[in-house]
Amino acid sequence: MKATYFMGHETFEVRECPIPKAKPGTVVVKNYACGVCGTDVHIYHGEKGSAAVNPPVVLGHEYSGVVTEVGEGVKGLKIGDHVTIDPNIYCGECEYCRNGKKQMCRHMEAVGVTMNGGFEEYSIVPAAQALLLDPNVPLEYGAMSEPLACCLHGIDRAEIKVGDIVCVVGGGAIGLLLVQLARLAGAAKVVLSEPNEARRKVAKELGADLCINPLEDGYYEKFLAFAGGDGADVIIECAGNHAAVESAFKFARRGATILLFSVPKVEATYEVPLFDVYQKELTIKGTFVNPDTHLRAVELINSGRIQIAPIITHTFTLDELPEAIAMQMSAEAIKVIVKA
Ligand code: ZN
Repeated sequence: MKATYFMGHETFEVRECPIPKAKPGTVVVKNYACGVCGTDVHIYHGEKGSAAVNPPVVLGHEYSGVVTEVGEGVKGLKIGDHVTIDPNIYCGECEYCRNGKKQMCRHMEAVGVTMNGGFEEYSIVPAAQALLLDPNVPLEYGAMSEPLACCLHGIDRAEIKVGDIVCVVGGGAIGLLLVQLARLAGAAKVVLSEPNEARRKVAKELGADLCINPLEDGYYEKFLAFAGGDGADVIIECAGNHAAVESAFKFARRGATILLFSVPKVEATYEVPLFDVYQKELTIKGTFVNPDTHLRAVELINSGRIQIAPIITHTFTLDELPEAIAMQMSAEAIKVIVKA
């Protein structure tokens, strides 16, 4: 089988490898589609992912496929099942795992980060990491269940109340999932702030009530006129740049919650407007990976309540991983998928 190994800083090597054999408690999956994540882009450029990467390793932690072999002792899966992979494996023993905060695990491993993942033809994963997809749902939608699960954790953290005004800053794949989740969470109005016109258009199709271009004159007045009062109750920043964080503070009304969703560079900083935090009683939160939200993500995809098709814009092959990563970084793409 073909496997595309990450060899370290900006280098991939396509290798011919034997198909893995199932071990007890694992399944072998014929990989079908794997999303290119912002984290893959960070790792490719030698930055940090969700966990430390030791090349050579096969990246790709947003993927789906079909079970081809079931290891001894596996109960809930059989050959032919369509599955999606929850990449994050927690130790279960550290103080965070034992205290309801598994995403803070001291010894987290992740399929496609610390162990071989989706950018190969077959993968072997612990059975507990494979979740059943409805066989009637296109398999590439399953590749979006991991980012959707991360968005669900973010939405949980944002604590949107029914009737809230929500502003999503950044209309990439994550922003477009969050727009949909904010609606499902009961927002009265959902605003998207995004400079790219094509992304604003997709957001409109996916249910954003107002899309504004933060590079256009008068965007803030337009936002205020639509939001009414002095801004949004919940602002979710998922653009990953300084200007986006700055605008998140600008969009916040008194008593608002600002959720910083994007994965920043390790050295990124931002000067917090302390008086606003004080006087407006702002709540600023972070969000990390997808603890216990993957099953809900799969339910949403299986049910068709979340639209995936308009978000996937480009498809590449395993030989084209550098091109896939370059495309994911470009303004042209929303979500890039690699088919194994
Ligand atoms: Zn742990």
